[in-house]
Formats: sequence, structure tokens, C-alpha cells
Amino acid sequence: MKKYLSLFTIFSLLILTSACQPVEESNTEPQESREWSIALHGGAGYVSKDMPEDRKQAYMESLEEALSIGSEILENGGTALDAIEKTVNYLEDNEMYNAGKGAVFTSEGRNELDAAIMDGSTLNAGAITGVTTVKNPISLARKVMTDSKHVFFSADGAETFADQTDVERVDPSYFYTESRYQSLQRALEQEEEGQSSLLPVTDEQKAWKYGTVGAVAKDVNGNLAAATSTGGMTNKKYGRVGDVPIIGSGTYANDEVAVSATGWGEKIMLNVSAHTLAMYYKLNEATLQESMNYLVDDVLEPGDAGFIAVDKYGNYSMKTNTGSMFRAATDSDGNKEVGIWED
Ligand code: ASP
Repeated sequence: MKKYLSLFTIFSLLILTSACQPVEESNTEPQESREWSIALHGGAGYVSKDMPEDRKQAYMESLEEALSIGSEILENGGTALDAIEKTVNYLEDNEMYNAGKGAVFTSEGRNELDAAIMDGSTLNAGAITGVTTVKNPISLARKVMTDSKHVFFSADGAETFADQTDVERVDPSYFYTESRYQSLQRALEQEEEGQSSLLPVTDEQKAWKYGTVGAVAKDVNGNLAAATSTGGMTNKKYGRVGDVPIIGSGTYANDEVAVSATGWGEKIMLNVSAHTLAMYYKLNEATLQESMNYLVDDVLEPGDAGFIAVDKYGNYSMKTNTGSMFRAATDSDGNKEVGIWED
């Protein structure tokens, strides 16, 4: 019996390891400066390769479309901040992603949205958590950065701040989608059966778990910026705040790198992940890819998270240890990647 148990353990470990193979892409380093570059993600997770062809197609098309919105702004001399805000707005409006329309549900059946944006050239940032009536949370986060004395507003306070701006408001029911609601029902059933409901168990749950969106960019003036927007995690409890709006965890930018995260928020924040990448880059004079490898392979554990980053040279890097990450990137040299899995 013991023998079978240990064979089973080895087999399970093998499956887990292969499901969490790192996925990575970058344009070549070093360090010949590209005028501009942009990378975006639509969430990291364990998306099954058996995804129906039409759904896969829809994801690929939306990633392409999001990328073209940001890259056009940069190509025309626009700012990194405008490029990432507009890119994220598009993904927030697309219900395939867990941000804005399409956000996952809390344990109480609500959609509570988090977002953050950071301007690497000023080290200023804006963040919001727990909003329920703001159509595009990343745009409110930008207003927090530019139009308030503060960095981070939560729940009712964030709504009050939103009242003083021109950001578009919606009834909370706008965020309802049937598939996300069904995901919550399944998570609640599993919780009743005594299973952990925060962490994905079946392939289907894993595919639905993540879907946060983010974008990072370098513009023609050499400024870097990062943005991330999310509904959080299905069945998150009352008032849970994830990594996304915590500056330095899910979102960070300085004058050398810009980083946006996706994945298991608790792990991302416990490792102060985005800032860890930035400090590794600075203190070791490392390349962007070396810094990304350190974070994803050495700091985090398989299955935890994925990241996108750009640096001051216009290098981009996208890597996850969860098996898949919706992602896309391009630069002024014409490098371009759009993908979900490793190949
Ligand atoms: N990191 C997000 C959170 O924990 C979830 C995700 O990336 O999908 O709120």
C-alpha cells in the first residue's frame, strides 16, 4: 500500500511540475535602446490547451487588439501612461478578462474591483480597492494619482473620490456575467464540502481563476509606467485586498523598470514582487530577463504567478510559473509576441 502511495505522490508531483512549466518570452537583450515598447497581460493561470478553438481565437484577437491600442499611442509619440491606461481600458471592457466587465465575484456575490497605476518618471502612483460602480477602475486610479493628495483610496472613500471626477459610473449589476457567477457557485459548493475555495483545484476552475489585466510601457521620452486592474479572486472574503493595488506588489514602476503582476495575490504581496524585480535589476545591475528569472524562479513557487515588465532600454519580458499567461508585447524595432502557453 505504502509503495502505491509513494508512486501516487511522485505521479502527482510530475503532473504538478509539468502543469507549472515556466512560460517566458522577451525581446533580445542587451541594451540597444528601443524608442518605445509595451507589454500586456490578461491573467496567468493553468489554462487547458484543450480550450475550444473559437475561444482561443477570441483571446488571441483581443490580445492583438489591446496591443495595437497601446502601440499606436506610443508610435505616435504618446505617453507610456496614456498607452497603458487605454490598453487596460480595452481589457476592462472585455468580459473575457477578470477586470471591469467580467470581474469575478466575492463570497457575498458582489464585484469589488482593484486597480493601480504608477508613473516611473515621478514615482507617483494611484490605487483603489473595493469599488463597485466605476466602469474603468484604472482610470479612477490615474485620477487618484493626478488629482488627489493621496495614493490609495478604499471602498466607500474611493466611490466618494470618484464622485468628484468625470470617470464613467455604472450600476453594480453592469459587472454581472453568468460564467463568473457560476464560478462563484462552484467555489461555494466546494467550500461547503470542506475544500479550499481560494485555490483552484480542477482544470476548469484553474482556467477561470485568474484573468487580471495589466500593461507596462516605455515611451519615446524614456518614461516608464505600469498599470494593473482586477476583480481579484473568486470567492474572496469581505474586504479582501489583493496584490494589484498595493504599490510594489502587483504594480510598480521607476525610471529603470515597470512591472505588472497576475496570479495568487497573497503570494505576490508577501514577496513584494514587483518591487523585488526592480531592486534586483538595480542592485545587481542585472538584465531585465535575469531579474524576471530571479523573481519567477527563485522567489516565487511554481504555480504562484506571472509578470510582465519593460526596462529603460525598451526590453520587455513576460514570464509565468503557472503554465500559461494571456500576454502580448511589441516594440519600435518590430519585435512582437502574442501568446497563451509556452509554445
Ligand atoms: N492577483 C489577483 C488578485 O489576487 C488575481 C489575478 O491575478 O487574477 O487579486
